Amino acid sequence: MKGTIFDIKRFAVHDGPGIRTTVFLKGCPLQCWWCHNPEGISPQLEKFQKEITLDGKVFKTEEIIGREISVDALMEEIIKDKVFFEESGGGVTFSGGEPLMQAGFLLQVLKKCKAENLHTVVDTSGYGKQEDLKAILPYTDLFLFDLKLMDPTAHKNFTGVDNQQILANLDFLIQQKAQVIVRFPVVPRINDTKENLSAMKKFISARKELKEIHLLPFHNMAKSKYERFGLHDNFQDIELITHFDIEAISEYFMKEVLQVKIGG
Ligand code: SF4
Repeated sequence: MKGTIFDIKRFAVHDGPGIRTTVFLKGCPLQCWWCHNPEGISPQLEKFQKEITLDGKVFKTEEIIGREISVDALMEEIIKDKVFFEESGGGVTFSGGEPLMQAGFLLQVLKKCKAENLHTVVDTSGYGKQEDLKAILPYTDLFLFDLKLMDPTAHKNFTGVDNQQILANLDFLIQQKAQVIVRFPVVPRINDTKENLSAMKKFISARKELKEIHLLPFHNMAKSKYERFGLHDNFQDIELITHFDIEAISEYFMKEVLQVKIGG
């Protein structure tokens, strides 16, 4: 079986515990305004023209984003760093894009990872089929689960999809006693409003099983990617001023959950 990935990041330290290898699966059903991996949204391999200047001469060349890879070939890449995982309490993280978009492939790789006794993390938008979550659950040690906007209309406006399925999937994982850390990408003027923070706090505090939240402050480091791939950047003309200081947001959540971490 083959899947499509667009990157493999070794020695990652923000995608779960310890030193990790993060595999980025291509394809996402969302289109978040603030996406840091816009090249991971389309499930297809994509060709982009790029220009390189050498000795004052401009050369046009083509860049292909994404590659197909078999389960076994991906496992070979992953286990190269097994010794670092063992020493640091790390493992492998599946991110994207949205890993659940390639649920069959993800399941096969997760099974092989568990056969190798590797710690596994799935970093998800939560938008996927519940049956797929159920299938990967026995092979996933930790879910990093994004919560972005609590208002369904705002969620649809800024990500392209409603949040009903996402919230239902989060509740499903909680019921199944999965290990879940909520990740909140804090995006100025979009979800750092008093209304959203209050709704999110209410949602989290009603679920005592959620013990940790990671706040991911927005940065526009993906700006160059939007330029490079000729994609529309929604933040091009938006002034990046937060309504609340990230520390204040952290304090705000601290009263409800045991642990708040800034960054992944
Ligand atoms: S869910 Fe993540 S990968 Fe998908 S569009 Fe949103 S930010 Fe990008």
